[in-house]
Amino acid sequence: MSKVVKFGGSSLASAEQFRKVGDIIRSDGDRRYVVPSAPGKRFDKDSKVTDMLYACYDTAEAGRDFREELSAIRARYQEIIDGLGLSLSLDGEFETIEKNFKAKAGRDYAASRGEYLNSIIMAAYLEFEFVDAAEVIRFDEDGVFNAEKTNGTLAERLAVSKYAVIPGFYGAKPSGEIKTFSRGGSDITGSIVAKAVQADVYENWTDVSGFLVADPRIIENPKGIDVITYRELRELSYMGAGVLHEESIFPVRQENIPINIRNTNSPDDNGTWIVGSTCQKSKYVITGIAGKKGFCCINIEKDKMNSEVGFGRKVLQAFEESDISFEHVPSGIDTMTVFVHQDEFMHKEQKVVASLYRLAKPDSIEIESDLALIAVVGRGMKATRGTAGRIFSALSHVNVNVKMIDQGSSELNIIIGVTNDDFEAAIKAIYDIFVLTNL
Ligand code: ASP
Repeated sequence: MSKVVKFGGSSLASAEQFRKVGDIIRSDGDRRYVVPSAPGKRFDKDSKVTDMLYACYDTAEAGRDFREELSAIRARYQEIIDGLGLSLSLDGEFETIEKNFKAKAGRDYAASRGEYLNSIIMAAYLEFEFVDAAEVIRFDEDGVFNAEKTNGTLAERLAVSKYAVIPGFYGAKPSGEIKTFSRGGSDITGSIVAKAVQADVYENWTDVSGFLVADPRIIENPKGIDVITYRELRELSYMGAGVLHEESIFPVRQENIPINIRNTNSPDDNGTWIVGSTCQKSKYVITGIAGKKGFCCINIEKDKMNSEVGFGRKVLQAFEESDISFEHVPSGIDTMTVFVHQDEFMHKEQKVVASLYRLAKPDSIEIESDLALIAVVGRGMKATRGTAGRIFSALSHVNVNVKMIDQGSSELNIIIGVTNDDFEAAIKAIYDIFVLTNL
């Protein structure tokens, strides 16, 4: 058995947190490959080390004195080392970092040092081998992650290391230049390592006990999700359900390795299992609800549109020309509506409208803004009749006007468009009917 365990920034923000992590790893000999993030916030107003590194590097790049900022970063690590009673010195490391900052080694290099240094400490604390991600996580020279090369290199390297710590978030190009994933990318590294070693499970340790059926900022004390499929999770995380980096699903999904989201501060909780497929029914018809505000819809009308071959292509081409991706395209006989992100669309609005008139020659165009999309997701919906009916009667009960409905052919989700103002009320109504009432 082998498990890959990734710990997020809040799980590694202080010596006290490091101790909890140490206990978790030592309690199970299968937890062999550890992927740490950089130290996160210790308290609400605290800074994440990654943010401190970006800021410090910006000072260095502007040619100003950055030593004080670098000392503050160093103090964060020293506090952890002292708190753990280790006799580790980071003198040499910080000399190199200072030199490289002066030589303007790049923002990615700067940010990556957060995970790099934390992993050195973790390896010393656990007495595991340290394997630098720059040697095993490979990017092409143009900055694109090279999955195949990485998988081979990592598998070969870790085959000779029974217990190792591999920093999250970064890798290197063939030239040696450091390249990071997008923010929160240590989750991706964990998934890549799990794939390479064919782990039995990828444990992702954070500060919550897994996924919740709905956003706790909207629903007080929402229920947790015990088991969710990769596909359900994709739908929910696309719609803003946080916890795990969106891209981290892909490497483990290819190998059908389950992800288990766990809570470092409450290690006895089972957390959420993310799996390829399951015969386990979810507790409710729906697995989760997520949503986002800030959409616009563009209603395009043209008489006899239904018989004009190529109309849809011309409409979408107008959006493509302005480099805008669309979210949903519900249509009627003589109308077609395109949902887009408001912030992407706003400053290109007139350009898109002009292109639409030029390409599709519609009779009229109307634009509506400040809309929200809500995804109601659940593998259980396929086998249950009346789910849509229940959603809409719940919404009409609380007087929410439904602007758009879209059900994918997979019957895994129903997307509903409402106004931004109705967003919270709509989510509450859906949660109530499926979870609280559980009819
Ligand atoms: N430290 C990086 C960040 O703050 C990556 C991570 O924590 O996953 O984005």
